[in-house]
Amino acid sequence: MPERPEPLTPLDETWESALCVVAHPDDLEFGAAAAVARWTGQGKKVVYCMVTSGEAGIDGMDPDECRVVREEEQRRSAAIVGVDVVEFLGQPDGVLEYGVPLRAVITEVVRRHRPQMVVTGNFRDTWGGANLNQADHIATGRAVVDAVRDAGNRWIFRDQVEGGGLEPWGGVREVWAFGSPQSGHAVDTTDTFDAGVASLEAHRAYIDGLGWEHFDSREFLEGNARQAGQRLGTAFAAQFEVFPMGWGD
Ligand SMILES: [Zn+2]
Repeated sequence: MPERPEPLTPLDETWESALCVVAHPDDLEFGAAAAVARWTGQGKKVVYCMVTSGEAGIDGMDPDECRVVREEEQRRSAAIVGVDVVEFLGQPDGVLEYGVPLRAVITEVVRRHRPQMVVTGNFRDTWGGANLNQADHIATGRAVVDAVRDAGNRWIFRDQVEGGGLEPWGGVREVWAFGSPQSGHAVDTTDTFDAGVASLEAHRAYIDGLGWEHFDSREFLEGNARQAGQRLGTAFAAQFEVFPMGWGD
């Protein structure tokens, strides 16, 4: 008898502001954009922050040119799901290192936006099975959970607080990593699935540059969304691993 997949728990939606921090333009579109469309449709504020500009992502295009193309694609892609603030931290694509400098730049963003929820990408070693995750994703996700903690402590990266014009922010309740193979939660994306597809399609130069001959955005997203939906009890869903962040939790 085939094993019954574990049910997923609905994500908390009692919040008003979220900050999404991912390594590359296109990361959110491969797993979270339809969820973002749902949230902005509920009147929530969602901000995007890209650690790099994905400038090393297209083999046939020089990074200086590629950066401009990909930032533009990301802004269009964000607008499709109701996000009009998109920031780029300008860190080097492909060679991100987990460490204190990366935590510092992400802490600065968390202190500036003061979100209740923070979304990042899967930072486990794999996507499940033998599909290895990518180094920038792992570095970014690990730095995000640490930066959320750092942001609440005035003595960490204190130059941002003393003379930097920022206040500590310890108000992030949870960090959510989309696409994690250890996801225990999900959100229904049935009604916003099409917006998610359109949002991924906005990365046209990147998708063409991948050279995956028969890549179909809808088909790709549908496979994952249907699987998660089955476990949530909806047609489509996006899955997340939840990390509680509140002080004292
Ligand atoms: Zn990526």
